[in-house]
Amino acid sequence: MTFPLGSHTASPNPLDDARALGAGALQLTLGDPQSWKKPAFAVPSFREDAQAEGVAVFVHSPFVLNVASTNNRIRIPSRKLLQQHVDGAAEIGAQGVVVHGGHVTADDDPASGVANWRKCIDGLEIQVPILIENTAGGNHAMARHLDALARLWEQVAASDNAPNVGFCLDTCHAFAAGLSMETLVDDVLAITGRIDLVHLNDSQGGPGSGVDRHANLGEGLIPPEMLVEVVRAAGAPVILETPGGVEAHARDLEWLRARL
Ligand SMILES: [Zn+2]
Repeated sequence: MTFPLGSHTASPNPLDDARALGAGALQLTLGDPQSWKKPAFAVPSFREDAQAEGVAVFVHSPFVLNVASTNNRIRIPSRKLLQQHVDGAAEIGAQGVVVHGGHVTADDDPASGVANWRKCIDGLEIQVPILIENTAGGNHAMARHLDALARLWEQVAASDNAPNVGFCLDTCHAFAAGLSMETLVDDVLAITGRIDLVHLNDSQGGPGSGVDRHANLGEGLIPPEMLVEVVRAAGAPVILETPGGVEAHARDLEWLRARL
């Protein structure tokens, strides 16, 4: 295995969880994920320690952020917040900043959401790559269905900043979105040309349900062999965002390692 495995952690010292799991990667937020506040992550010597211990670090940006929005009062603060998180990620030596694809409303032309993404990407100072994540639900999402993702990526690819825009594939979101799990990695790669990170989650919601409810590996509705196959085929770092803390994540990692 050449790619690191790890989990999302909300621990005050995130490396404690990675150590307990024997993980080669971790994901964290730089502040309250539901907040618009400027990130304030200040664990002493985190960057140096993560580097010394060989732990790949990923930052998840706040869920409130929606750079696709046609509403100025959401879109403009979203861009600002994303930039702050990219800056914060650079400070702690992270490899990527995960950001959800976002959505427009039923009254909007999806093309305006895609255009907003392009402006955001063009205007960002991307010292750390942003990784756009597929989402589970909504009919006006930028990165739920493959045709929408293809429209989005046309614009991503046309930006001068394209080399610093990657993709984060979430298995729960893909399954709940109704995407084919058998061909998922190939289908995504045909559009984006890259998968930089896998969010490995089982799903409580059924195929096409649009329900974003993560489950521990083997305890949801995704056939186990398909979860494993996505990990193998993507060949990218893997982060669990499954329920529970270190103990549950240890079980999930064991589940995965036993099958890889
Ligand atoms: Zn995710």
